[in-house]
Amino acid sequence: MVTIRLTNSKTRRKEEFVPIRADDVRMYVCGPTVYDRAHLGNARPVVVFDTLYRLLRHVYGPDHVTYVRNFTDVDDKINAEALRRQKAGAPGTLEELIHQRTEETIAWYHADMDALGALRPNHEPRATEFIGQMIAMTEGLIASGHAYAVEGHVLFRVRSYKDYGKLSGRSVDDMIAGARVEVAPFKEDPMDFVLWKPSSGQEPGWASPWGKGRPGWHIECSAMAHELLGESFDIHGGGLDLQFPHHENEIAQSACAHPHGDFAHYWLHNEMLQVEGKKMSKSLGNFFTVRDLLDQGIPGEVIRFVFLMTHYRSPMDWTAEKARQAEATLRKWRAATASVEASVPLPGVVEALADDLNTAGALAALHAAAGEGDWAGMKASAGLLGLLSDGLGDWASAPEVDLSVQTERLSSLRTAAMASKDFSAVDALKAALIAAGVEVRMSKAGIELVPGPNFDPAKLEALQ
Ligand SMILES: [Zn+2]
Repeated sequence: MVTIRLTNSKTRRKEEFVPIRADDVRMYVCGPTVYDRAHLGNARPVVVFDTLYRLLRHVYGPDHVTYVRNFTDVDDKINAEALRRQKAGAPGTLEELIHQRTEETIAWYHADMDALGALRPNHEPRATEFIGQMIAMTEGLIASGHAYAVEGHVLFRVRSYKDYGKLSGRSVDDMIAGARVEVAPFKEDPMDFVLWKPSSGQEPGWASPWGKGRPGWHIECSAMAHELLGESFDIHGGGLDLQFPHHENEIAQSACAHPHGDFAHYWLHNEMLQVEGKKMSKSLGNFFTVRDLLDQGIPGEVIRFVFLMTHYRSPMDWTAEKARQAEATLRKWRAATASVEASVPLPGVVEALADDLNTAGALAALHAAAGEGDWAGMKASAGLLGLLSDGLGDWASAPEVDLSVQTERLSSLRTAAMASKDFSAVDALKAALIAAGVEVRMSKAGIELVPGPNFDPAKLEALQ
């Protein structure tokens, strides 16, 4: 059997992966809060852990791996959006509007992640369906002295768990000094975090021993992981930004609620994503969703390929240049393997993935196989990375659009117009191109024409 090695955040070492049970390998990954479209950074853990899921299925058999990824459907941002809609005159109760918002967001999420070739997890629990389990776990933590109820809240007593901070390697006192902890007069200690909080009239809430309220975010994952995977399971994953406090809190809750279990054996964290060398942010104008890219005509398979070019433990930089390279490579590979029957994955690709998910190494092995013309093995190996599958390939069968003639024409018209100061011919051609679904990008540096999502080749033809 292939030996998988993974970098375990818990020990900060690359370790051999030994599952608790080889016939039931279990993985939990923190999923999205469903209040809006997933941005590109949200998609990184999805592709990273989908690749690990595919590798585990390859090694242990597809029926012997259980992958759970939750939906957080209780959140102040969801409530805020529902309230905004109600104020804008949308029909229905606030509860119905909250439900509507989470339903549509989950449907978007599925459509966008499917487009990236990510397999759906075996279970996608929603927090609102596990409120009973969260209340029971919270009651247990109070009974064992690890939590306390005060003013409608229940708080976890951080100092009661001696290993708190071990995952991220910080002491509680360091954390207090550096963290943005919410100071509340009813807290015994500033580090204590919320397991349950009261809901006011407008907020969604459930009856509990502490009054009408809702769970804190961290307890959701502990309760759902326990319900679906048990007291001890193999892998827990998520973005590095979740390591503290979310994952520390999950560990504290689960370890104290189930002292005989040991929660997750291997913790994996993916590094963050940047765009053209900068942090993605709304204020920098480089913030975009997966859907924005898909709508611009960038195929999901190309996005996936760009993600795989960088190791999950390194920060990854999304650039338009990488997307162009990925698209060119995939076009070539798709054309070469169109009528090829996939054989079995190449050892070099499996070995690279088994070595702490070295996706860049796996892609290099694919390039090498392509160079040698081993298309059957190459196609099977690409499948292990979630590439070249039948369902993802429609984009590549459309012929590549050559807009060089129009680009040159527009460019010379512009040069002439600069001299004559008569831009009517430039404007007319520009309007015709836009009508044909072509995006026209004009700058001092030059002119770039890109086929957009509504590109219509017949209209372009008529321009000749
Ligand atoms: Zn979580």
